[in-house]
Amino acid sequence: MYIDCHCHLDLINIFGININDILQNSRKLKINSIVQVSASINEFKTFFPVFSKNFLYKNELPFLYFTFGISPNDLSYEAFDFSELLDLFLHFDLIEHMNNGKLVAIGEIGLDYFHKFFTSQEQKNAFEVQLQLAKKYNLPVMLHIRDAFDDAIKILKNADISSPIIFHCYTGDPEITTTILENFENCAFSFAGNITYKKMENIQKSLLIIPIEKILLETDSPYLSPGKLRGKENVPYNVIQTYDFVANLLGVSLESLCNQIRINAKNFMNIF
Ligand SMILES: [Zn+2]
Repeated sequence: MYIDCHCHLDLINIFGININDILQNSRKLKINSIVQVSASINEFKTFFPVFSKNFLYKNELPFLYFTFGISPNDLSYEAFDFSELLDLFLHFDLIEHMNNGKLVAIGEIGLDYFHKFFTSQEQKNAFEVQLQLAKKYNLPVMLHIRDAFDDAIKILKNADISSPIIFHCYTGDPEITTTILENFENCAFSFAGNITYKKMENIQKSLLIIPIEKILLETDSPYLSPGKLRGKENVPYNVIQTYDFVANLLGVSLESLCNQIRINAKNFMNIF
């Protein structure tokens, strides 16, 4: 059984792939659970009501979970004031979804100095405010950090949250990985399809120094299709190829990797 710890069903849907088809294929291919990740408020406002009504609470595989957050590349919600963010959280009944075990993290949030659609100050502010929200509800954080690890580490240290810190689509080199491991006991690293790409030796080297208890796997679909599927739109069940690649790299059996990732997903995000 496989888990896709991070995908964007709303965006896959926009690309014309039907969510029912994705879920049906996922079931056939033994995908146990999928985490739908929020990246912007506008998207959340339009997609989440449909998603929660039609899919989230279906009692069949794959089990669905979701996150709430605004990515550093989509700070369309300009009022980055904690109380207004809290209002939104309450407006969408997120406490109830959290208590039902369906809201599993605040994310994706963080810093992206590669794209830099917003100034670093704007990004830092949005990041800090959302970390406060995670702290208030003791929720894990799902991080999007690109070319900004130094600032991100500083902010995370200041935020001093005790819930898990999950680096999504992890791209840090071994040196950054060591720093993170030394500074944040409760951290996890989620690897996406790009770990299978030829020029990604740094990510592969990082994987090898991370304790297996701290590894998660994801698709980030519709982006970053693994292996030979590169360039095509990605879907959650393609996570199987990333499992294969990672099992090989770690020299463990696919079965034991599946078991380990299930334990990790339960430990870090309370996903079953
Ligand atoms: Zn994402």
